[in-house]
Amino acid sequence: MTQTTGRLIDGNALSKQLRAEVAQRAAALKARGITPGLAVILVGDNPASQVYVRNKVKACEDSGLHSVLEKYDAAMTETQLLARIDALNNDPGIHGILVQLPLPAHIDAHKVIEAISPAKDVDGFHVASAGALMVGQPGFWPCTPYGCMKMLESIHYDLKGKHAVVIGRSNIVGKPMALMLLQKNATVTICHSGTKDLKAMTLQADVIVAAVGKRNVLTADMVKPGAVVIDVGMNRNDEGKLCGDVDFEGVKQVASWITPVPGGVGPMTITMLLVNTMEAAERVAAA
Ligand code: NAP
Repeated sequence: MTQTTGRLIDGNALSKQLRAEVAQRAAALKARGITPGLAVILVGDNPASQVYVRNKVKACEDSGLHSVLEKYDAAMTETQLLARIDALNNDPGIHGILVQLPLPAHIDAHKVIEAISPAKDVDGFHVASAGALMVGQPGFWPCTPYGCMKMLESIHYDLKGKHAVVIGRSNIVGKPMALMLLQKNATVTICHSGTKDLKAMTLQADVIVAAVGKRNVLTADMVKPGAVVIDVGMNRNDEGKLCGDVDFEGVKQVASWITPVPGGVGPMTITMLLVNTMEAAERVAAA
């Protein structure tokens, strides 16, 4: 039966549950003498990045993971940053390394990410992690699309044979999202700024993931009744309040399930960082 009024997939509630599981796993590993550790590197003083790294470090501490926040001046050179990453790659107390993006313009972000050991790439941005996802091998999945998959799992949604439309094709959200959906046997369409008729695509979708960064990219007239809608976007409305890519009030009348912004994908992203860090530490412990 198709449900016609959108029920919320609550990212805060699901995060709480998953973080409690992480805390249990961390305690079990600690009992064996290993404390899972995450190093977070911030270069420069981007205000949004400062908030993000603070939240990540706090989330680690709340779940019993060890975390180190390394803050550097915007004048830090690429060579200096690469040397820090090399040291962290060789630090047995650190299981995950996260370099907060964006980096200052004089530092090559790609080179920096590639310097992180794939075994510690808990953000899942390394080419080795992307390749592992592509070929279906174990590796670290990027936290945001991984969180979206957990949200679909939480409503016991069987993706097999369903048509999923992903709006956005970035390396950190859209593309890995599409690969994860494909891995679960959905038929996947990826849309982007060059897509000719977005509405014609989304109207065919059983699942829509909006990862664009523009308000109201998805409105009620673009959604098939009963579709599941995941909103990754983070934008500000006219009142300066956080909102997603989806016209939430309109679309929730048509969708069967919908994620809110805030309180949807956002908290799940940090949660999956904890999950990946935990996984990295457990792999070391099992080796
Ligand atoms: P991005 O790198 O800017 O990618 C945006 C994508 O949207 C691009 O592929 C672009 O197409 C496509 N696009 C732009 N306008 C479009 C349109 N009118 N119709 C269809 N597609 C369009 O952004 P991102 O890093 O993937 O992030 C997307 C959004 O998610 C942002 O709001 C970001 O803040 C948010 N986000 C949230 C979280 C979270 O934790 N909640 C995490 C990461 C990102 P082209 O490739 O053709 O340019």
